[in-house]
Amino acid sequence: MILDPCKSLKSVSPLRQAYRLMHRAHGHLNWWPADSPFEICVGAILTQNTSWKNVELAIANLKKARALSLKKIYNLTHDELAQLIRSAGYFNIKAKRLRNFVDVVVDKHGASLKRFFKGNTKTVRQRLLAINGVGPETADSMLLYAGGHSSFVIDAYTKRIFERHGWCAANADYDELQSLCIQSLSQKRGVAKLDFWRDYHAQLVVVGNHYCKPRNPLCDECPLKTLLPEN
Ligand code: SF4
Repeated sequence: MILDPCKSLKSVSPLRQAYRLMHRAHGHLNWWPADSPFEICVGAILTQNTSWKNVELAIANLKKARALSLKKIYNLTHDELAQLIRSAGYFNIKAKRLRNFVDVVVDKHGASLKRFFKGNTKTVRQRLLAINGVGPETADSMLLYAGGHSSFVIDAYTKRIFERHGWCAANADYDELQSLCIQSLSQKRGVAKLDFWRDYHAQLVVVGNHYCKPRNPLCDECPLKTLLPEN
């Protein structure tokens, strides 16, 4: 039997309770760690299939070469860009993806991220998803943290944590998990909601990274322990 991920949630409160517990343990996390909206976009592309540590090295390299800007990246050759982001892994693919994004912003939006992100969330999300190499997680990360759009980010940590707590079906896909979060976590409006969703995703990343490991999760130390099904 396929569980409807929305119906599998007995009530919406566990997701809100989870936030209270994570926030109590970590405080407000002020994500995303970056100096500018463009750096956030670059990080969102580079972090695909690699650790954040490797992304930090690549971004530091771009900064060192004074190449962390739309126009600088636009004017680099593919090989120059690929070498600068080498530490992020899959550097040829990521150089192409980064260029695809930069080309659209420069060629179609006057090299202005502000103009690129202008419009309603659905329209801007479609604009992002139309770029080769930008999937839902990358698009939502850019929207939420760089574009000021309330678009909930789902990642592997979200899925693992929700699944282990029985908040979603094992086969729930990205859209289903996102709908579940939107349905459960939309009490706030405007900037308050944006801030809440930014921090919610950040809290899940910290829990996923520190406690909810793929094997041998550290439940005894985790702030979400009291929300496990057997508790
Ligand atoms: S580590 Fe354990 S308690 Fe923490 S989120 Fe994962 S399954 Fe839940």
